Amino acid sequence: MQDCLFCKFANGEIPVTKVYEDENFIIIRDINPQCKNHFLAIPKKHYKLLAEMTAEDSQTLGLILAKIPTLCNELELQNGYRLVINQGDDAGQTVPHLHIHILSGEKMGWNPAR
Ligand code: 5GP
Ligand code: ZN
Repeated sequence: MQDCLFCKFANGEIPVTKVYEDENFIIIRDINPQCKNHFLAIPKKHYKLLAEMTAEDSQTLGLILAKIPTLCNELELQNGYRLVINQGDDAGQTVPHLHIHILSGEKMGWNPAR
């Protein structure tokens, strides 16, 4: 999709340091970390919402979820981690390209709604 920041990260049009990359998705560091470690797993295909994915597309999400724990050292997941997907305005989604936040490296409170 034109003029989508995360599409440009994923296709290399805008250079970004990738912690991980394969044919389906990339993982980068969030520019404004909300936790000691804050990464973003970004599918290469453009969707804003889970609701836009076909069943076949959504297999990418399974691949991402399976890959994350194998990157335990790179993502510093040893003591636990949190995954977040913001969807739409009420959740505060600011980038309209689906991404999974990966938060780790410190004890987190439980109040993601505020
Ligand atoms: P959302 O609010 O859509 O769930 O999350 C968007 C995330 O993208 C935010 O955590 C924000 O800090 C991050 N972000 C926005 N622009 C950039 C950027 O240019 N580079 C990186 N690495 N992260 C970005
Ligand atoms: Zn995009």
